[in-house]
Order: sequence, then C-alpha cells, then structure tokens
Amino acid sequence: MSTKTTGHCLCGKVQVTVTSQPLLSYPTLCCSCNNCKRRSGGIASFAFIVPSSDVHIAGSSHTSYSDPDTGSGKPMTRSMCKECGSPVCIIEASAPESRCLQYGLFAGEVELPRPQVEFFGKERVVWVSEMGGEVKETL
Ligand SMILES: [Zn+2]
Ligand SMILES: [Zn+2]
Repeated sequence: MSTKTTGHCLCGKVQVTVTSQPLLSYPTLCCSCNNCKRRSGGIASFAFIVPSSDVHIAGSSHTSYSDPDTGSGKPMTRSMCKECGSPVCIIEASAPESRCLQYGLFAGEVELPRPQVEFFGKERVVWVSEMGGEVKETL
C-alpha cells in the first residue's frame, strides 16, 4: 500500500510530498557541523533521507545555495524557501539520488524521531551529550 505525507515551509509556499512509504520508515540523520548550525539557525540539522523518486517538491519560491565548504570538497546543494527562509532539502554530491528532507517541514505532522546517524559529532555543542545512534565524523 502506498502512502503520502505532506510537509511545508513556514509560510506554506513550498510543499514537500513523500510517497511510496510512510515518512517514518526512511532513514534519518543529524549533522552537527558548523555549516549546518549556521544554515539551520540552531545547533544541528536533522533530516529524513528519501530517494528523489519518492519526493515531490512544489512551489515557485523554492531556491537553493551551493555550499562549497564541505568535508568531501564537493559542493552540497542546500535548498530553502526564498520567501520565509525555511530550510527544505540537502543534496550531497556523493548521493545525488537522495534528498535529505529537513525535519522542520513535517513539524506537527509526525513525531520527529531520534536520528539514526550523526555526522560531525566532534562539532556538537558541549551541552548536548548525544544526538543520534551511530556517530560518523565526516559526511
Ligand atoms: Zn516559505
Ligand atoms: Zn552539516
């Protein structure tokens, strides 16, 4: 049985729909790197990892930034709503078929889960003891 979960940015002009499987069945990650702190406005970024074939992003105010400062040296695409600034999605150069959909899109839709993997645990703020299960140092 196929399912559908829809999320949106703060202003509602960008809508994200995930199909095929329940949202909570996809893998999750968080990243505590300093770029994700700046970009999220908080202490880390949190995302569901969904194949691009299961993701539909609608809305003319969806725009992106190519972040050149990455661990791999390959630019990473970070997208957001140009109207309200909400982070929407990250596409890694090493995994172009995956969409890292930001937790915030689905606030109030699902109970946001503890991430399964954490990247850049060494840059995690000192007052948080643990974010996710497995800790990886590079993304
Ligand atoms: Zn918006
Ligand atoms: Zn990061």
